[in-house]
Amino acid sequence: MHKTLLKTLNDLILKFKIQEATGLNLTDAIVLIQDLINLQAINTIGRGKFLETKKRALFLPHCSRKYMDNRCQATFNSDIPSYACAHCSKDCLVNKADQYAKKKGYDIYVLPGGSCIPKILKTSHYEGIVGVACGEEMKMMSPLLNGMEVAGQAIPLIKNGCANTLFNMETLVKVI
Ligand code: SF4
Ligand code: SF4
Repeated sequence: MHKTLLKTLNDLILKFKIQEATGLNLTDAIVLIQDLINLQAINTIGRGKFLETKKRALFLPHCSRKYMDNRCQATFNSDIPSYACAHCSKDCLVNKADQYAKKKGYDIYVLPGGSCIPKILKTSHYEGIVGVACGEEMKMMSPLLNGMEVAGQAIPLIKNGCANTLFNMETLVKVI
């Protein structure tokens, strides 16, 4: 990597206390920032095509539910497979995103993993999709979605860890 870029990333990580906030070491924090920059570039390039789409879906990660045990009242459809939020908790991030996106005409899927997405796209033929996930999941998804005729926008998790994860609702509102 170019030395100037590396120094800029180092400075950003120190300035915004990214290591403290994420618990990552410096190398992983640099990879995180690079992933976010790449993601933003991909979103920007694909934005025009996405805005022309009508039939859209929102894919939310199951790890952002308020509860990941039987206190979550969502029903699970193993054929898709996806959870359908039952709106048991007003302060659940998945509930908020679900309700907002439904009003905007989106179909919502709360997924146990991104590998379900190609199957959903083959059966439901969405023109545009918005996906919320961590960087690792996004990287795994990219090759699976390559070659599919769908315009995508991605929203990264701002807190990872496969449970009690967070995404930014304001970002979601702007993207969808
Ligand atoms: S609001 Fe929905 S996703 Fe959140 S815990 Fe309740 S049923 Fe599960
Ligand atoms: S943190 Fe990433 S890999 Fe873990 S459950 Fe959430 S989206 Fe999937």
